[in-house]
Amino acid sequence: MAKLIDGKAISAQIRAEIKEETAQFIKERGYAPGLAVVIVGDNPASQVYVRNKKRGCEEVGFYSEVHECPKDMTQAELNALVDRLNADERIHGILVQLPLPKHLNETEVLLRISPEKDVDAFHPYNVGKIMIGDYHFLPCTPAGVMALLERSGIEISGKNCVVIGRSNIVGKPMAMLLLHANGTVTVCHSRTKNLSEVTRQADILVVAIGRADFVGADMVKEGAVVIDVGMNRREDGKLTGDVNFSEVEPIASYITPVPGGVGPMTITMLLRNTLTAAQS
Ligand code: NAP
Repeated sequence: MAKLIDGKAISAQIRAEIKEETAQFIKERGYAPGLAVVIVGDNPASQVYVRNKKRGCEEVGFYSEVHECPKDMTQAELNALVDRLNADERIHGILVQLPLPKHLNETEVLLRISPEKDVDAFHPYNVGKIMIGDYHFLPCTPAGVMALLERSGIEISGKNCVVIGRSNIVGKPMAMLLLHANGTVTVCHSRTKNLSEVTRQADILVVAIGRADFVGADMVKEGAVVIDVGMNRREDGKLTGDVNFSEVEPIASYITPVPGGVGPMTITMLLRNTLTAAQS
């Protein structure tokens, strides 16, 4: 039976550390780290994420602003808001909640956020820094996975690490962080041939596909560490991962549950990045 990696507990531990560092920061500087979150339109999932981010800020003692913008906002208006936030001294981190309504250009907005305030690490400048291993901001979800591995005492160096998924948000930066931690990394995607043969080589398997229960026991080596990034809604509304937990849990050495694994870490890493931005 696998040991469960408890993302809620590890996340709470890291938030307590951030809270303590923030109190010290406020004592020294006389102001709090500030995060601005911009949400355009009324996508219910985005609203939940934004509420959780605001709550996270309050928990650790940050200043936060939520800019709720109408769904017919123009590109020029959104750009002007980003410009204002870039210039605002109270704001150290800016996050534009994605996806944006179709008429708005996400790339244009992400490029407009000052790289020093880009706490999601989506700006090409920060993406480039991740590539060369000179991190300023770590991309939140992959950084959360790294923290789970480190705090569970899982050695990465020399291990066969397989990442399924190659998105810019999760798969690619995940592979890069594992590589910099001296893992031997393979990245798989929808065109990968003989996927289960590749995944069965993994000592550490990170799954970020977006398909419920995709990874079964036949894809996992006995004793592997299995990290499930997937977040899928079942028909009954319940959240489930990309890994078939009941099949894989008996053969893995460590496994993350969904919910309660990678999910709670993402906002925690956003808070870490905001503190980093304020400190620099
Ligand atoms: P995405 O942009 O849709 O990327 C999915 C990746 O999976 C793609 O690279 C795709 O390959 C690959 N894929 C799809 N079907 C496949 C198959 N049959 N075999 C092998 N690879 C396959 O998704 P994402 O943004 O990376 O998110 C992935 C999952 O993580 C989603 O469930 C998302 O909700 C979740 N997520 C969770 C958090 C969190 O905080 N826990 C944060 C972000 C995302 P191609 O490139 O070839 O199409």
